[in-house]
Amino acid sequence: MTDMPFDDLSIVLDDDPKALDKPGEECGVVAVHVPHPVDVAALVHLGLFALQHRGQESCGICVAGGDEIRIEKDMGLVTEVFTEERLDKLRFALARTGIGHTRYSTTGSSLRFNAQPLTVRSNKGLLALAHNGNFTNARRMRDEMLGEGAVFQTTNDSEVMINLVARYAHLSLEDATARVMGELEGGFAVVVMDKRRILGLRDGNGVRPLVIGAFDDGGYVFASEPGALHVMGARFIRDVRPGELVVADDQGLHSRQVLPSTPTPCAFEWIYFARGDGVLDGAQVHGARLRMGEVLADEAPADADMVIGVPESGLAAALGYARRSGIPYDIGLYKSPYAGRSFIAPSPHLRDQKVRLKLAPTEAVVGKRIVLVDDSIVRGTTSGRIVQLLREAGASEVHFRVSSPPIRFPCYYGIDTAARQELAAAAMGVEAIRERIGADSLSFISEAGLSRAIGLAKTCLACFNGKYPAGMPDGDSEKESLDELAAR
Ligand code: SF4
Repeated sequence: MTDMPFDDLSIVLDDDPKALDKPGEECGVVAVHVPHPVDVAALVHLGLFALQHRGQESCGICVAGGDEIRIEKDMGLVTEVFTEERLDKLRFALARTGIGHTRYSTTGSSLRFNAQPLTVRSNKGLLALAHNGNFTNARRMRDEMLGEGAVFQTTNDSEVMINLVARYAHLSLEDATARVMGELEGGFAVVVMDKRRILGLRDGNGVRPLVIGAFDDGGYVFASEPGALHVMGARFIRDVRPGELVVADDQGLHSRQVLPSTPTPCAFEWIYFARGDGVLDGAQVHGARLRMGEVLADEAPADADMVIGVPESGLAAALGYARRSGIPYDIGLYKSPYAGRSFIAPSPHLRDQKVRLKLAPTEAVVGKRIVLVDDSIVRGTTSGRIVQLLREAGASEVHFRVSSPPIRFPCYYGIDTAARQELAAAAMGVEAIRERIGADSLSFISEAGLSRAIGLAKTCLACFNGKYPAGMPDGDSEKESLDELAAR
């Protein structure tokens, strides 16, 4: 879509409406405002490229300025969707603001019409929004709005937010967004834009990350991770605080603390999701991964000849384990740079195929007793296949160490940790999982050890312990989760 007029409250989103998808997506967002002419589309494109690991199924960019607003989005990787020709469509002299989004979704919602940014026309002009996380009360709010005659044209919960913002016609964009922040529940980081400004916000628990950067010659960036700022040539200023709404426009940065701040950021950002070069909420990602390995070495020592990690996010923890234990570190698995991350392959069949496409054992493992460090065990199929690969290659023993605690509960805040019945640790104890994956021994880091390694006062650990700091979707209850845990 390009050059959309903006005059009323009608919605100008994409294709056919469908039922709400199962919640569960991990996304990357970026927003740029500059006070003078630069290639905004190219900047957002660079930022998205740096956030590609946060979502590989669809992506989009919306750019605005003067009287124009243009959007391009589609299924595929940033490099596939944004050809030079497509980027050219987003380039115009008066462009001052832009937002971008990379999306991962569950299979059912992996459809073009759910790609973001989303746009809506309102009396505030044409607004665009990109969202990382999940609104746990979106279904109820959507039903209420449908009852009042609202029309939805995507199946993702982000559309509830942008429509709510648009419906508060008597409020400014900033005031309407602040009001909507108080109405939505769950874990989310969102960027919103019109032709003159960008807004960045996080839920009161700060479950999903969002950072602020500045360009030396003027202008600001919001992005899911600091790595995007670096690539765009912006300098890191600070994190958006939990519950904070930050606006960047020609006058600079304006902040308001909309919701009480009770920080419990997602522990999985440090375990697996975030790029290793980042610092989120003051805690280094790489340093935390190294410490997770050190903690594992203390909590679960092994009599072995070599420590190896599963590339990429298991490598830092493996190095930490090796340093702490004194067991030599080596590269035991070669990772093809052209295969995607197996964790987010959309079907079990593809996931199995991808393990062999992605990983191959090196000769270093032949005849060795191996400590194998990985960041997580979700279903156990990938882990079992890796153990099998190492044995086939000649490893004499494989001692599996995991830098996250057992995942027993679903995530309601935007991470697809698989359906509950598919989670290996939801149904099995550690010994049964060890048997399933064929390892000689298996140990997970403890919750306390993980928290120590990350180094923040509190993080969300709900997928490990069932205690949801930002609430659960309507109809579910934390008590049920804990009762289930106690029953096992
Ligand atoms: S439930 Fe797990 S994956 Fe979801 S936000 Fe909490 S720690 Fe992160």
